[in-house]
Formats: sequence, C-alpha cells, structure tokens
Amino acid sequence: MQTCDVALVGAGPSNLSLAAHLEGDPGLDWALLERRAEPRWHEGMLLPDARLQSSHFKDLVFMSDPGSPFTFFSYLHEHGLLYRYIHAEYSTPLRRDFDRYLQWVLLKLGERVSLGEAALGLHYENGRLVLSTDRRTLAARDVVLGMGHTPRIPRTSLDPSDERVFHSSRYRERRRDLGDLRGRSIAIVGGGQSAAEILLDLVSDDDMPRRLTWLSRGLAFRMFDETVLCNDIYTPEFARYFFGSPAPVRARLNETYKSSSDGIVADLMLSIFRRFYVLDREGASHPERRILLGRTMQDLADAGTGEVEITCEDATTGRAERITADIVVLATGYETGFGALEPALDTLAQRDAQGALVFERDYTLRLRPGIEGVRIFAQNASVDTYGWVDPNLGGTSYRSATIANVLLGRDRYRNGGSATFVDWGGDA
Ligand SMILES: Cc1cc2nc3c(=O)[nH]c(=O)nc-3n(C[C@H](O)[C@H](O)[C@H](O)COP(=O)(O)OP(=O)(O)OC[C@H]3O[C@@H](n4cnc5c(N)ncnc54)[C@H](O)[C@@H]3O)c2cc1C
Repeated sequence: MQTCDVALVGAGPSNLSLAAHLEGDPGLDWALLERRAEPRWHEGMLLPDARLQSSHFKDLVFMSDPGSPFTFFSYLHEHGLLYRYIHAEYSTPLRRDFDRYLQWVLLKLGERVSLGEAALGLHYENGRLVLSTDRRTLAARDVVLGMGHTPRIPRTSLDPSDERVFHSSRYRERRRDLGDLRGRSIAIVGGGQSAAEILLDLVSDDDMPRRLTWLSRGLAFRMFDETVLCNDIYTPEFARYFFGSPAPVRARLNETYKSSSDGIVADLMLSIFRRFYVLDREGASHPERRILLGRTMQDLADAGTGEVEITCEDATTGRAERITADIVVLATGYETGFGALEPALDTLAQRDAQGALVFERDYTLRLRPGIEGVRIFAQNASVDTYGWVDPNLGGTSYRSATIANVLLGRDRYRNGGSATFVDWGGDA
C-alpha cells in the first residue's frame, strides 16, 4: 500500500487550485488523482467564443497569492499571449484559454498528479484513510474531495440511452455527430447560460435547423448579475458571515443572490437578439423559432413519428402542452454528489436531521465518532453551507488558501479582510 499525507481526488479547478497552494512546501507529501486521462474543463461547452462569467483575476491562485507562478497571467506570459490578450480588451477569459491554462497548471504540478486514475472507494483503517482506486490503494491522513458536479438529467418515459436527447455537457460531441442541421428541429430545455450559448451556436452557421424551440421554466429569463454589489458576496468577509448565519438566513441569502451565480450574461442575450434581428431582416425562412417562458418540462416520450414529444406545463394556464422535436438538448444544470465515494461517506461522515452531510468552517466533513486523526475535506460540495461562492471560481482561491493553511498547520497564506462595501460583520 502506498502512503502520502494528503490525497486529492479530482483535478478540476478546485483541487488544482489547492495543489498550486501546496506546491513548493516540502513539509507535506500530497498526491492528486484524476479519473480522466486527458482532463478538459467542461469540454462539451468549450464553444469557440464562450467566455468565463468571472474575472481573469479570479483564477486558481491570484486572490490569495498574487505572486504565485500559477496565475492566469503567468500562463499568458509564458505562452507569449499577454500583450495580445490585454490589447483584445478581455476582462473575462475565453473559456478555451482557461481550459488551456488549467492544462498548463496540471503539467507544472508534475509527478504528484496521476491521470486516468479513478477513486472507487474510501475507508478508515488503523488511523488512516485508505483510498481504493482502479490502480492501487493509497493511505493518507487527509483526503480532499474535489469531484465536481454531475449533469442533472430528468427521468422521463424515454430510454435514457436514446441519442435524440442529450445533456448540454455533451453538446460539442453530439453537435459534431449530428452534422448538417438543415431540415431538423431542435428543442432546448432550460433557461440558463448553457441553453443560451447553445441556441446562439445553433444559429451561427449556415446549416441552421429548420425549427428551434427554447423552453424555460421561469416567467422571465434570469440575467446574470455581475455588478459591484453582487461581487461583494465573493469575498472572505461574506464567506465568514454566510457560514456563521443560521440555515434559514443562508437559504434567504442564496435566493436573494442567485443571479450572481445563475443567469444569462447580458452580452450573450444581446448577441442572440441581434442574430435573430439580422435573420428576420434578411427574410430567412428558417429557423422557425418559438421561445417559450413559464414552461416546465414534465416528460419526454417517443412521438411515434421519429420525433421526441415534450410534455410541459404552461405556468400561465396550468395546462399541459405538447411540443415535438427531432433533437432535445437538456440544459438542465448539474447536481452535487460524490459518485463512487458516496457509500463510503455514509459510513465515515455524519448527517444532519435532513440527511445532509455536515460541513465545518474549514471545509472538513464532520466524521462519525471513533474516526480520529484523519480529515475529509470537500470542495464545491455545499452551496447550502458556504453560499454561491462555493461552486464558482470567485471563491476558489480563498477556499484553497484556507484549506492549505489547515493542512500545513500554519498561515502560509494571508486570508484576511477584504474591505467590502457592505459591513458583513464577522472578524475580518
Ligand atoms: C459549462 C460551465 C461553465 C462554467 N463557467 C464558470 C465561470 O465562467 N465562472 C465560474 O466561476 N464558474 C463556472 N462554472 C462553475 C464550475 O463549477 C467551476 O468553474 C469549476 O469547474 C468547479 O471546479 P471543480 O474542480 O470543483 O469541479 P470540476 O471542474 O467538475 O472537476 C472535478 C474533477 O473531478 C474528477 N473526478 C470526479 N470523480 C472522480 C473520481 N472518482 N476519481 C478521480 N477523479 C474524479 C472529474 O473528472 C473532474 O475532472 C461553470 C460550470 C460549467 C458546467
């Protein structure tokens, strides 16, 4: 059995950020494992012009360690792109640039990273946590779970393997397979950023579909709020205030600030509107389009004509409505979970009265009595406990610096006050 001090599971931005914060400290032996052999950042949505919804300063390290060799700007500099990037007047990176930046960080981290290795189990044995992977067993004092989220795919009457229906996380691959879209009808279910990006992508080339239907549950499209006051919640001060608040207040805060995390960027909506303006002005006969608000998808079924039938409820009339399409894209978001490690957490970690895992201020899980001398950290796993900062890059650097300080047993990173506009109280 191999051993290390800390095992990091998953090499997405959360654990890459933590690894970058641990790198260069000889006092800690850590290992990072990632199930994919060639990890890409949300590959299915790496559309050519898609941009991040967050500032280039909110990379893996900058907000807690601006002098780090792992900043996005160091990546640009090393690749001779810095001048051109700045002259292009970007303030939020292209998603494809960010993906390349993550790959560069992964490479820089070197031999401690093991790609193509999936964690399959976790148990407690003789005062250590033992990870079973598809390659080895690895004993560690601490484990950090950074396993991300999984696509939320509603259960319907249709066979889940039906290729006419797919989640937005597979969009690029399926779009390639579908080839020329002329003559086809496509429905997009969901009212968020991914749905809007897919819609624009589908009308950007000449081979546009014959008919496009966009169904959103809300009675209005939620617009992404990136204004200065919303950014106040992506600060260490707010993180401390949020954690210290009772659960009902946290829930209210999350509802109040939902649009700071979840919504369509104004520029994107404008681009869609302008694209349809041009198509209409040119007298384009297709795509015939229907943009429908207040429609909740209830089921998908085979229409018997080769098409898929979508049943949805109209929030205004309360009536069921049926819509058909050749292809249905589910831009229905993501949900948290620990995949193969979920059963292990049932035996290792405590749950509250509602059955939810209990997360501490330092991002550890509250473990069951008798499990001592070890810690399980979880990143990007509880919006309810940490707020919208948890799933977003805006808080990644702060969270990693907090965890790194705990793992190293000293304050390597100064994670202090942030001079917010609003007085969130606390000990900043
Ligand atoms: C399309 C899209 C765009 C987004 N854009 C933004 C944005 O612009 N700004 C922003 O702030 N946030 C954005 N987000 C939010 C997103 O959650 C974060 O940006 C970020 O990807 C979270 O990082 P993570 O490491 O927690 O999870 P992930 O990026 O999902 O990484 C988790 C990793 O763990 C690996 N893994 C899972 N299980 C195992 C296992 N058993 N063994 C080994 N490895 C495993 C996975 O393969 C994956 O590589 C976006 C999300 C999506 C889906």
